[in-house]
Amino acid sequence: MKTDHFESWLAVDARGLFCRPGGFHIDPHGAVPRAVITHAHSDHARSGHDHVLATRETLAFMETRLGAAAHLGSQAVAYGETVQIGEVTVKLVPAGHVLGSVQVVIEWRGRRVVISGDYKRSADPTCLAFELVACDLFITEATFALPVFQHGEAQGEVAKLLKSLTQFPERAHVVGVYGLGKCQRLIAMLREAGYVEPIFLHGALAACCEVYETFDVRLGTLKPTTGAERDELKGAIVMAPPSAISDRWPRRLPDALNAFASAGCGCAPGRASAASSCRS
Ligand SMILES: [Zn+2]
Repeated sequence: MKTDHFESWLAVDARGLFCRPGGFHIDPHGAVPRAVITHAHSDHARSGHDHVLATRETLAFMETRLGAAAHLGSQAVAYGETVQIGEVTVKLVPAGHVLGSVQVVIEWRGRRVVISGDYKRSADPTCLAFELVACDLFITEATFALPVFQHGEAQGEVAKLLKSLTQFPERAHVVGVYGLGKCQRLIAMLREAGYVEPIFLHGALAACCEVYETFDVRLGTLKPTTGAERDELKGAIVMAPPSAISDRWPRRLPDALNAFASAGCGCAPGRASAASSCRS
């Protein structure tokens, strides 16, 4: 078998991308005997696998969100650690996407393939930075590769949010964020920008924030929105899943001003911007 014919050892079957000499799928669409998972977003990490190999962080998110990450067992692999699976070696390197996210580096008979998963190259205080790996074949996702997707520079968008708080101190600033990644990145960037006030969370966002804290990503004081005094929420930042913002939920807040953290972690008070297909 010639390894430069990558189709001979990497194939797409009904469950997704399959590595034949390793005997595993990468981010499979359905339950498989052996899965390597790039990160814990629901379009990559699904339940029902017999065995899952991923970072400790990804396994923790999977267990929080899906219950047990795998039926028979899971294997936590550290960044940069090389493991043998069947005939191939596998190494997980940072993808810069969310806490625990990786690119999967597979080597077989002198050839190296990198499978990116979702990745980003802009700075993110909540996860390790994307690492460039030389390879013979790069398999990537490109959800936002089209020029039509233009996201604001993240720090500038955070500054707009903070400015809006000073302009509208009586209004609750409700920011729609996906629960894993966007939420914590925006919180961390607000903290970097000097915002020290408590940030209020919709109940659906709490569990992933707790996992981040478990892995020493400091998010400052977070409070549940439920039970908060109405006066406490005036001029406060309240984070909620996008679905809650379009629901009746913000009506309980004082004169809610809605914003949405986009795929580029832009945040635009008063308008919605491009939504990520990379679901929480
Ligand atoms: Zn993702």
